[in-house]
Parts: sequence; structure tokens; C-alpha cells
Amino acid sequence: MKIYGNSRLLGQTARMVSAGREPHSIMIHGEKGLGKKTMAKYLAAQLMCEERTGIPCGRCRACQLIEKGAHPDLIFAQANEKGNYIVEEIRDNIIADAPVAPNEGDIKVYVIPDFDLSIQTSVQVQNILLKLIEEPPDHTALILTARSRETFLSTIISRCVSLSMTPVTLQESGEFLQENYPDRPMEDIREALEAGKGNIGRCRAYMEQEQFYNSVGLARQIAAAYAGGSEYGFLKALAGAEGKKPLLREALYLFSEIVRDAGVHLAGGEAVGCDTNAAKALSSRLTLSAAAELYDKVNSYIRRIDANCNLALLCNSLCADLFS
Ligand SMILES: [Zn+2]
Repeated sequence: MKIYGNSRLLGQTARMVSAGREPHSIMIHGEKGLGKKTMAKYLAAQLMCEERTGIPCGRCRACQLIEKGAHPDLIFAQANEKGNYIVEEIRDNIIADAPVAPNEGDIKVYVIPDFDLSIQTSVQVQNILLKLIEEPPDHTALILTARSRETFLSTIISRCVSLSMTPVTLQESGEFLQENYPDRPMEDIREALEAGKGNIGRCRAYMEQEQFYNSVGLARQIAAAYAGGSEYGFLKALAGAEGKKPLLREALYLFSEIVRDAGVHLAGGEAVGCDTNAAKALSSRLTLSAAAELYDKVNSYIRRIDANCNLALLCNSLCADLFS
């Protein structure tokens, strides 16, 4: 199991484990694609590895079972089809199970991934987890992951070790791509690196031509139409999402990043979004305050998508708003 970058985090948790100060409650936060779930699995291996050095050995029974996804004491909570953790799942499979001794070693690890996607039940579930977090049995550890730390109640935040995932360097993303896609042409790798930058999840999704790949294409068209002052082109680009909500949402989010990068470019900083050249092109048409205003506007429309607004009306209204 290899974690790219984030060496400060790895060092922090390794020191805790090797000193026998294993944390019982951990939250991992950071934007989509930064490797929160991989980090949760690595942390579990740090806690469960028989060598107890803080660096999973990869050879012991615990490490091998974790690698195969077959360790009986590493338990991932299951969300329902809507992405919500229902109260019964957490109560029956975590709270009721926690007092029971581990099957293999001396620790059981529960992971609840993508906690922030469980919008409807998040507060309820956190309240149920609070007791386990306040008084954990010696043999348990709980790992929660979410895009933002703000997902969590303050009572939870104050009792968890908080780990913030950061993007990796371009060099580290490049290493990931070369190691995982050795047969792909250099041009593909360069393209994925430009689109995903230091976000390895995005680089991978681009290579695999998952939704992110299409979202990047749309975001580029949206940015080009806006930079060119073409209202028709802008509407046409939005229509390219064909009414698919996740695709439109991601494309607008990536466009907002390009807008932010345009502002960052004006202020003399470095781009982190999916298209540095598009950001530069846009920056020649915007002032810093206009970029900030545009960024806020686009994000307000993203929130309207999240609130289940009619997508066709939303596209028309966004276009009218931005070209008025
Ligand atoms: Zn091991």
C-alpha cells in the first residue's frame, strides 16, 4: 500500500503508534480525490500491523489480510443506495459490535467513509457515535472521512485526532501515473497531470475516462465561451451535460476553479484547477474583484443544483445572470 505525499500526516500517526499512543477516534478530511479512503486503510494497517513500528510491514498476517480487503476486524460501514448511513447500520454494526473482542489481534478498526454525503442522517449518526468516541473500549479505533471538517459536530471534532489531506506535488502525481499506467503514452499522462494536478484521484479518473474526464471537457468549453463573451456558446456548453446533474455540477465546480485560478493568476499565484491556460485566458478579461464575484455567483448556482433546482431553468438563469 503506497501513500503519495502527505508525509507529515504519515509521520504524525507513525509516531503515535510507535510510542503506544494510538488514537481511538480519527477524522480524515480533504477534497474529493485526495485519497482519504486509502489513507483510512493505511491508518488501519498502522494500527493493526503486528510489528507496531508505525509503518505497516506489508508481510504480517494483519497487513496481508488488510491488503486483500479480508481482515475481519477492519469494518467499513455501508451506506444505503442514497449514500446515507442509516441509524440502524451504525447502531447494530458499530456501537453494538464495539464491546466484542477482536477476532485476530488486539484492535478492531471501524471506518465510516464519505460521511459528508450522508446529509440526511449525519447529525443523528454523530450523536449515536458520540458515546463510542467519548468512552471507546481499549480495543477499538474509529476513522471518519469527509470532504470538510465542517461536516462534524464540535463535540466530535474536539475528541478526534484531525488529519487534513493535502494535494501532492506535480512530481508525485507524475510518479503515480507512471507507476500505475506504464503502458500509456506520455501524452496521455501529461494531459491527466494537467487536468488533475496534485489531486491523484482526479488524475486517475482522467486516465480512466470517468465522469471527471467529461467534466473537464465541459468546464473548458464553458470557460472558453465565457472568456469569448459568447452567450450562445455558454448555453451550448451547459447543454453538453445533457441534463445529467452530477456531470453539470462537477463541470460548474471545475469552471469555478478556473475562475478562482484566473483571480490567483492576477494576484501572481499558481493555478491548481484543471486548466491553467484557460485560467490565464480568462484572467485577461477579468479584474480581481470581478473574478471573485463570478466565483461566488457560480458557486451559488452549484448550491442550487444541490438543492434539486430544475436543471434546464438553472442553466438559462445562470447564463442570463452571467451575461447581463
Ligand atoms: Zn504488518
